[in-house]
This record gives sequence, structure tokens and C-alpha cells, in this order.
Amino acid sequence: MGNIQTEVKEVKLFIDGEYVESSTNSTFEVKNPATQEVIAHVHEATNEDVDRACRAARRAFEEGPWRKMTVAERCGKIRRMAEIIIERKEELARLEALDVGKPYHVALEREIPRAAHNLSFFADFMEKQGGEVYPMEDEYLNYTRYEPVGVAALITPWNLPLMLTTWKLGPCLATGNTAVIKPAEMTPLTVSLLGEIAKEAGIPDGVVNVVQGFGADSAGEFMTTHPDVDLISFTGETTTGKGIMKNGADSLKRVSFELGGKAANIIFEDANLDKAIPVSIQAAFMNSGQVCLAGSRILVQRSIMDEFVDRFKKAASELKVGDPQDVSTNMGPVVSEEHYNKVTSYLDIANDENSTLVYGGKRPDLPDYLQDGYYLEPTIYIQEDPNARICQEEIFGPVVTLIPFDTEEEALEIANNTEYGLNGVVWTDNLQRAHRISHNVRAGTIWVNCWFVRDLRAPFGGFKKSGIGREGGHHSLEFFTEAKNICIALK
Ligand code: NDP
Repeated sequence: MGNIQTEVKEVKLFIDGEYVESSTNSTFEVKNPATQEVIAHVHEATNEDVDRACRAARRAFEEGPWRKMTVAERCGKIRRMAEIIIERKEELARLEALDVGKPYHVALEREIPRAAHNLSFFADFMEKQGGEVYPMEDEYLNYTRYEPVGVAALITPWNLPLMLTTWKLGPCLATGNTAVIKPAEMTPLTVSLLGEIAKEAGIPDGVVNVVQGFGADSAGEFMTTHPDVDLISFTGETTTGKGIMKNGADSLKRVSFELGGKAANIIFEDANLDKAIPVSIQAAFMNSGQVCLAGSRILVQRSIMDEFVDRFKKAASELKVGDPQDVSTNMGPVVSEEHYNKVTSYLDIANDENSTLVYGGKRPDLPDYLQDGYYLEPTIYIQEDPNARICQEEIFGPVVTLIPFDTEEEALEIANNTEYGLNGVVWTDNLQRAHRISHNVRAGTIWVNCWFVRDLRAPFGGFKKSGIGREGGHHSLEFFTEAKNICIALK
């Protein structure tokens, strides 16, 4: 591909229907993680800017037409946003690859279409919703209405920027709320366009606002304490979620949290390895392992351990690590220097814990122009002790641990030996065992003989420290609405 530097973008805030500069005109740099080249200067929202965005969203909610228009009209505009995303999909995929370091073709074929689908799905879904009716003989009649809550703060991480933001924005808008969005400061490029896309789709000014900035003591925190914000939908790290909950407590903000994970991917001896291996490779190394749902602990029944290790290692060695913009690339860099340092610190930890390195553990050989990129080979360890730090902590990079087990009971015990509970995966041809494991792994989603297959009607969220609440289908609509009962005397 050669040098992939493009023009340096200037990214502004989008408040009340227009792009605006930071009130202090301060900006921060965003770098391409594949090369460390500066790709954008981003306006940093101050407390004053966040206040302006929240007040614009409040005004649009209280005084604007958005929540009062018919569901059909509102949802039509949301569907139009989805269409514009598809019309601009090459541009958006290019930006996502540049910003996050993910392969362009993955963004183009999976994430950008899913971002559009997040909007059109909730528009379609909302149009089919009704309320309930509870007649009390012929004396009284109760019926319910689901009304929007108000102004939502939507705060998202850097690993799947547009996909995770639209996952919140779809139900937020379909139910008639207004939004202030804050993408992660490292990856703001695609999300910064959502205000403009909403405006082009005919969504009134002030309904979709985007502020750029950092988390603690910056735009993120200002949003979570702002009196005009009624609810917070947050995806990110568990420790950040704890802080946000404390900050939102004084004004009793409603919260929905999608947090960290450390999924067990359990491979039984009767599993079809022809399927389990390529899917487990994806689950470990997709997006350089920077996926909350990553199958980062692979539990392998000891009777097939040798065969699994040989085949898994061979499959990992066949992944092409390289330039995210190149269509043949399977894995790019991790997102930033700070994250690279965090991920690679686990190589020393693994070593100190006497883990066996099976593959990777160093920088891959790359062309000169990628020499400064934050690259690590797909890395595989074997670790017998499920309490080791590499088996317990969310590394969020291309580092996976294989843990042997003997019996089903032992596999379950190891799978549940974690503070997280976002998801789990099980590979077996034994139907009864598949159900038993699915019932007993304490996690919000269990995939049997597959991974990351999503029906947006289904609930999504975590047990334990992986989250609070559920998103998806009617679960999202419940979070973004107030249920009201109306009781009418008939006589
Ligand atoms: P962080 O928690 O660091 O950040 C997430 C977002 O919150 C960013 O926009 C961040 O801003 C902002 N933020 C940080 N501190 C505060 C604060 N005090 N108040 C308000 N906002 C704040 O997560 P990462 O970006 O590092 O994302 C990785 C994490 O996300 C992993 O733990 C992963 O498991 C989780 N995740 C969970 C998913 C799920 O569905 N359960 C899906 C995807 C990821 P800034 O970046 O500017 O600091």
C-alpha cells in the first residue's frame, strides 16, 4: 500500500445543528496507530461547551417537534440516517480503519453496515410497539404509554466507535429522546459526523449533539454530572462505569452500562475442530483482540489439548498482520501507545507467572512505513493456573490464554472463576451438555458452536461486573422510556 498518510482533518463539535469550535479553541491530536502520523486536530469540549450541548438537547426535547411528531415521521428520519451511512460507507470505513487501526474491509463489510442497521432496526422495531390495556371490570380502564425520558448522554469506547454509538443512538432517538454523544478521544472521526448525518436526514437541530474530549475531569465527566442529562448509556471499562455511577448519583441519573469481559471459550473433546478453530481465532484476534466479547480464555479438554494447540497455532501464524488499509490484512495494530504498553506489559506478567508461550509475543516483521505502528503478533500462551493474572484480567489485545481442563465440572468452575460475565462460548456436539453449560455459565450471552452472532431483538449485556441492564429489542426501549399508567373512570 505504501505510505497511507491522508490530509489532517479538523474535527469540531456539533452543537444545536452546527459545527462549532471549542470555546477556548483548544485542540488535541489524534494519531494513526499504524504509523503514529497525526490524522486529526480535534476541538476539545470545555465545561462550557458541554453545557451548551446539554442545554441545546434539553431545549430540543422540551420545545422542539422531535418527541411530539408521529412515530412514523420520526422513524422515517432515523431510517434516512441509516441510508446516508450506507451511501457514505467507503468513507466511514476508511476513517474507522485510519482511526482505530482495524482492517478496512472488516469496517466496510461488518461494522459500518451494522451501524446503519442499528438505526434502521430500532426505527422499524419502534413502529411496531404498542402499550398495554388493563380494564377493571366496567368501572375503570387503565392503559400505558411509553414516553421518552429526556436528554441522554451516550458515551462510547474506541474499539467499535460508530457501531457502538449507533447501537445506543437508534433506540434513544426512536423513543423520542435527544442526545449528547461523546466518542472516545482516541477515535472520534466517524462519530463526529453523526450530527451532520442527522441534520441531512431532517432530524431537528439540537436532537443529536456530539462533543469531543476526554473522560475524567473533562467532557465525559461534565456530561455525567450535568443537571440537564436524565440518563447515561455508557460502554467502556468497569472502573470507568463505577466512577460514572457515582457522578450521576447526585442527580439520580438512570444508567445502562456495557462493561468489560473475559469470556471463556470452552472446547470439549467432541467439538468439531474444523469449525471451532477458525471461529476461536476470530474470537481471539478480531480487531486485534480489542473486543469486549473476545474469547480470550480458551478452555480446552486435556484429551485434545495437543491437537488443538498445533492447529490453533498454525491458524494464528496464517493471519496476515499489516496495514489496516490493505484488503489482505487480517489484523492491524492496537489503538495507541498507552494501550500497546498496557497489552505488552502482560507479556512480562505471563512470563513471571510461568506461562508457556506457544506463539507470538513480539513485534511482527513489517514494511518500513509501519515501523512506528503499535503492532504485536497474535500471541498464545498456555497457563494451567486459572487464577493467573493473564487468565483473570481483561488484556484487550491480541493475547489469548489456553487453559486445560479434564471434566465438565472443572470447565464450569474455571469459566465462572472471573469477576466478569459478559459472554461465553461452548463447542460440543453433545446437545445436553451444550444446554447444561449454557445454563450454568454466569454470563449474559452464550454462543454454542458459534461466536458473535447477533439478533438485535435479543437482550445484550453482562452479569456481574460486566454491566448493568440490557440493550437490544424491547430492553433498549425500556431503558429509554418512562412507562406511564393512565386510569380512566368509565362512569
Ligand atoms: P473507557 O472506560 O476508558 O472509556 C469509554 C468512554 O468513557 C470513553 O469515551 C472515555 O473517554 C469515557 N470516559 C472515561 N472516563 C470517564 C469519566 N470519568 N466520565 C465520563 N466518561 C468517561 O473504555 P475504553 O475506551 O478503554 O474501552 C475499552 C473497554 O470497553 C473495555 O473494558 C471493553 O471491554 C469495554 N467494552 C465493552 C463492551 C460491551 O458491550 N460490554 C463493548 C466494547 C467495549 P476517553 O476515551 O476520552 O477517556
